[in-house]
Amino acid sequence: MNVDIVIVGAGPSGLCLARSLSGQGLTIAVIEQQSLDAISNPAFDGREIALTQSSASAMKDLGLWQLIEPQAISQLRDAKILDGRSQFEMLIPHQLSKYQELGWLISNHVIRKAAYDATQEANDLHHDITLIPGRKVIKVKTSQQIAGVVLDDQTEISAKLVVAADNRFSTTRRMMGIAADMHDFGRNMLVCCMTHDTPHDHIAWEWFDYGQTLALLPMNPDPETGRYRSSVVITVASDEAEELMKLNPEAFSRNAKERFGNRLGEMDLVSTIHSYPLVSVYPKRLVGTRFATVGDAAVGMHPVTAHGFNFGLLGVQKLSKEILGAHRVGKDIGDQALLLRYERTHRLKTKPLFLMTRLITEIYTKESPPAKFLRKALLHVSEKLTPFKKSIALSLTGR
Ligand SMILES: Cc1cc2nc3c(=O)[nH]c(=O)nc-3n(C[C@H](O)[C@H](O)[C@H](O)COP(=O)(O)OP(=O)(O)OC[C@H]3O[C@@H](n4cnc5c(N)ncnc54)[C@H](O)[C@@H]3O)c2cc1C
Repeated sequence: MNVDIVIVGAGPSGLCLARSLSGQGLTIAVIEQQSLDAISNPAFDGREIALTQSSASAMKDLGLWQLIEPQAISQLRDAKILDGRSQFEMLIPHQLSKYQELGWLISNHVIRKAAYDATQEANDLHHDITLIPGRKVIKVKTSQQIAGVVLDDQTEISAKLVVAADNRFSTTRRMMGIAADMHDFGRNMLVCCMTHDTPHDHIAWEWFDYGQTLALLPMNPDPETGRYRSSVVITVASDEAEELMKLNPEAFSRNAKERFGNRLGEMDLVSTIHSYPLVSVYPKRLVGTRFATVGDAAVGMHPVTAHGFNFGLLGVQKLSKEILGAHRVGKDIGDQALLLRYERTHRLKTKPLFLMTRLITEIYTKESPPAKFLRKALLHVSEKLTPFKKSIALSLTGR
């Protein structure tokens, strides 16, 4: 089989890239190890994705947003940061941006479904995307002249460019000999949906407590009971996470209520709980010979600053702009200069927040008395620094 571009991975980033390249006279193959059923009807995975205003625009341009039911999109109006057991809060109001809300929240499985459906719509129109589900890429071969992959059934696909969108531990990236800096935080993030008594007013919480980090992502009311509903995120040491996962729903709900210091009143678990180990990854290179990475394969963010998929979309926009720009004037879409331009701009956009996120998590997980003093002082000073808060608001809107 011969195509112009092979994309490894039909996660949201890989599918969005296929969608953005469709209809331009290029042929695309998307290889996915999961079954067709798993990607066309993705299961709930606990993740509620905070999307910037820029990502919302990108999703509209790609036709994903229009495929999502309005009640599945929740407003993220403001955000607040809390520290320890103090009642003090640093508020990031939407008024610091030019929007009515800082961003939006959509469940990851809903985004994945929209990305799949948008890709199918594009293919029905242009017949230029070949989706190969249930197959794993086991080999990548690239040279100055040509690139290609081998699948686990020994099928060979040649192309002008191979793009890895196969998650932060990208095996394709490894096969290309690209090293990556990985940091294991030794913690797990538990995510689930809970209903509660106290209104969230569409304010997202990031609470750097002692021994745990909590987050609350405001969702639309529970469709069955009409109660306030949020995505609850509990970050604790991996062994503690394992113990929490063993609790029955009632015990877990009581535990969460206590962790949140009763600030949300009665809390009830209304979904399954999902656990994610916290490992951030930044590859040494984002591209190679006739090879590029996008999505988590390019930048594996710590979720605390909620930018993983936002950066994924940014990478998709930048890479497809470069590819289509070259294709329109009859240039080689696997050209090294093009790939290096993509690498440079994507690094510039992502590296500062990647490093900042590491710093924040390091400062706000230390618990010695001087560290606690520093944490509190930083938050109080930041609350008074409007330009600093404005820069956080702009980062959350993606502008
Ligand atoms: C708890 C949590 C909360 C998050 N919150 C946010 C948030 O608020 N905002 C935000 O922007 N981001 C957030 N993220 C990050 C976001 O979920 C990811 O950035 C996004 O899902 C990555 O998409 P992807 O397509 O790059 O990778 P993935 O979704 O990991 O998809 C990769 C695909 O590649 C396939 N694959 C892998 N290897 C192969 C192979 N060899 N051959 C074929 N197929 C292969 C896999 O099966 C998979 O389908 C969060 C992440 C977590 C864990």
